[in-house]
Amino acid sequence: MVPLDPHSFTDSTHPLTTHISLSLYFDFPSSTIHGAALFTLSSPHSGPLSLDTRSLSIHQILSPSTLSPLPFSLSPSPDPIKGIHLSLSLPNDNTLSSFLITFSTSPSSSALQWLSPPQTFNKKHPFVYTQCQSIHARSIFPCQDTPAARIRYSALLNVPRELSAIMSARHVDRRLPVSGEGYSNLLPNGFNSLWCSETRVVEDFDMNQPIPPYLFAFAVGELGFREVGPRTRVYSEAVEGVLEAAAKEFAGTEEMIRQGEKLFGDYEWERFDLLVLPPSFPFGGMENPRMVFLTPTVIKGDASGAQVVAHELAHSWTGNLITNKNNEHFWLNEGFTTYAERRIVEAVQGEDRAVLNIGIGWRGLNEEMERFKDNLEFTKLKTNQEGVDPDDVYSEVPYEKGFQFLWRIERQIGRPAFDEFIKKYIVTFKFKSIDTETFLDFLKANIPGIEKEIDLVLWTEGTGIPPDAYEPISNLYTKIVSLANEFKLGRMPREDEVADWHGQEWELYLENLPKVVEASQVLALDARYRLSESKDYEVKVAFLQLAILSKCKNFYGEVENTLKEVGRMKYLRPLYTALVQGTENEEEKILAKRVFAEARECYHPIAQGVVESIFAKHL
Ligand SMILES: [Zn+2]
Repeated sequence: MVPLDPHSFTDSTHPLTTHISLSLYFDFPSSTIHGAALFTLSSPHSGPLSLDTRSLSIHQILSPSTLSPLPFSLSPSPDPIKGIHLSLSLPNDNTLSSFLITFSTSPSSSALQWLSPPQTFNKKHPFVYTQCQSIHARSIFPCQDTPAARIRYSALLNVPRELSAIMSARHVDRRLPVSGEGYSNLLPNGFNSLWCSETRVVEDFDMNQPIPPYLFAFAVGELGFREVGPRTRVYSEAVEGVLEAAAKEFAGTEEMIRQGEKLFGDYEWERFDLLVLPPSFPFGGMENPRMVFLTPTVIKGDASGAQVVAHELAHSWTGNLITNKNNEHFWLNEGFTTYAERRIVEAVQGEDRAVLNIGIGWRGLNEEMERFKDNLEFTKLKTNQEGVDPDDVYSEVPYEKGFQFLWRIERQIGRPAFDEFIKKYIVTFKFKSIDTETFLDFLKANIPGIEKEIDLVLWTEGTGIPPDAYEPISNLYTKIVSLANEFKLGRMPREDEVADWHGQEWELYLENLPKVVEASQVLALDARYRLSESKDYEVKVAFLQLAILSKCKNFYGEVENTLKEVGRMKYLRPLYTALVQGTENEEEKILAKRVFAEARECYHPIAQGVVESIFAKHL
């Protein structure tokens, strides 16, 4: 076996999957999906073929033409990171390039969050959605779960009639089920006969643009939508207030797409729809192509949520079109996207706003250096992730150090030359998965002599922040940082100084304060500016983190409320860490354990795992 990805059992000597036809029966009462999947390989193959699975039951593997069974085996115990190795055996005559698998998911599928009606906005219907990045697609269906594989797919989703489904794919039709379609007659446990029940409907999808498995996505629930642009709808649960607020927040989306096209070339995915999820969604956004998934916390009523949309939109070129070959090169996805996002923000909202974002990122990057001071590997751009769970080392480093690297190159060669370089890079590698070496070779070939000007090895393989990284400069940024420095000397900003501050200004201000201050200072700051009540979670969480670390117990009730309201890991991680890290904080540790026990069910399985690993490290 020759692995090509430390997070997958995929064998580099085997052909990769090019297409999967899925039939999925959603059984909400048991939080289970029963499925049939027809796989097509890039070439005929004989002998063993390796697939990734996690918490799946594999029922049968069949030759699609004869329906004769193909032998297969499952590794006896799961690898803690990769899951279960499924090895199937194709006949020795080298004629088969397709095979059929029937399977069922388990309620603990790490990609899926099943919400009961009380956990949704409308409280009437259940809801389920996916989060497959980095290595969770394998918990929905067996696959070569590595971004080195690019797969087209079609999917028939059989769901209760009162619900509807969206996918990160082209919607073909919503219609009555047809008996036996898509090998549904082979589904296990009697679900084959329920396929055509009159309480069911089929949502038919087709994804003709090849994607890495981590971009597979769907959501099923009582969904509504609003048109916000010629190629954009915003979807959410069919709740008037949520749809209205989302439509308003994202009204400027088409303008961003046009700016993105100007900078990076044609938008290749036809639609750019948005889905606003329930508050338990573990990320800010997920760049599922054609259908970006968003946390409702980005709806702040001041269009600032557009920045998360700008990030996910930027992935349409970097990440989704050009994808990291495996997670060790994640900076190719996120560093490029952070750079592209800020260029879009600069074009739409102006340079001051973009510089503010760079400043917030710079603070974040410096904090990550502190977090990884005993594990410097993860301060590198190109990392070694053998035996490492990508969810455990997820950080801002690939985003912000990657951004700094590209910004450094831009400063060296000038913006016009760099813009040309990026356009050429995208055209050259679109719909491909590449590694850091491929990028560096392309860089050196197209910008001769660059390696003499910039230490490319230090930037990509070195630890820490290189000396030629750059703290941004702008009047606004500098003023906020100096006001934060004055707070250390006991001066709070005056009302006239913060009169036109939005969330990001406050976020930057709070992030530049000392980690710990006097509890009385925390109280005074909140008495004047009510930061603990901010509708903007970035501000609220930064403030509550300061309150916890400063042992200002007046705000612990608000900490608890926040941890129970949202499941976004960007907020869970700092708040739980602040509560449990260090010594002489027994009360905080007890609070953290109790809140997690009570809120756990409301978090996505990925977020549950992250909180557990914070506890494992500190408790
Ligand atoms: Zn991203």
